[in-house]
Amino acid sequence: MTEEQKLLYAGKAKSVYVTDRPGVLAMKFRDDITAFDGMKKEVLPEKGSLNASVSEFLFRYLGSHGVKSHFLRMADERTMIVRALRMIPLEVIVRNIAAGSMVKNLPVAEGTPLEPPVIVIDYKDDAKHDPMVNDDLIVALRILDKRSLARMKRIALRTNTLLKEYLSMKGILLVDFKLEFGREADSLLIGDEISMDSMRLWDAATRQSLDKDVYRFEKGDVIETYRAVAGRIMDPPGEGS
Ligand code: C5P
Repeated sequence: MTEEQKLLYAGKAKSVYVTDRPGVLAMKFRDDITAFDGMKKEVLPEKGSLNASVSEFLFRYLGSHGVKSHFLRMADERTMIVRALRMIPLEVIVRNIAAGSMVKNLPVAEGTPLEPPVIVIDYKDDAKHDPMVNDDLIVALRILDKRSLARMKRIALRTNTLLKEYLSMKGILLVDFKLEFGREADSLLIGDEISMDSMRLWDAATRQSLDKDVYRFEKGDVIETYRAVAGRIMDPPGEGS
């Protein structure tokens, strides 16, 4: 990345830069880690590149199975070159096992399998603590029309099936994860990242956390955990283990 590149947007853990190609952006994964709406934060060297590599790997994997994302290529180990999307201000969460905010807010025990998987959609607004919305609200607020909403959910469920299958071959349970979507012309593409910050992963044998819960709830060494799970996901390259 060159010095001249103009910062377009800095989020809590990533920064997005304009590039000299129209419609193409550079998304830099920083080493910042945050939780609880940014109330807890730290800088953990190597975290950005670990999340960038896992995101790259999973975007390529999804792409090879026909699920489109903004991913184009890597510029360096922490900078992903992506298509510029018109982002939709929703966080689409797919849950396979009850955990996290679901267990905190509802009468369900952690670890309860959810079959079929549950989709929960939050409106992306930190100041309002990302309130949960439903289909009627999404349509009423003109965030998406009914057809696009249905399409977004279908892509989220297909992504879930692909990720769950792949990770299970690595002895990893995909508990839940969050996707963000954006539009490029008429296409609905996955944007943002798919990483240890946005997925909840448990070791299938021990049920130990292998994701940002290690940081949120101080369950161990975050970088060691991220490094080990990234290794499991990406090595050997391709499918199977
Ligand atoms: O906190 P909660 O249980 O609702 O999170 C569900 C999933 O969505 C988790 O995998 C979490 O890491 C992810 N998530 C996220 N960004 C948010 C909220 C949740 O990546 N702002």
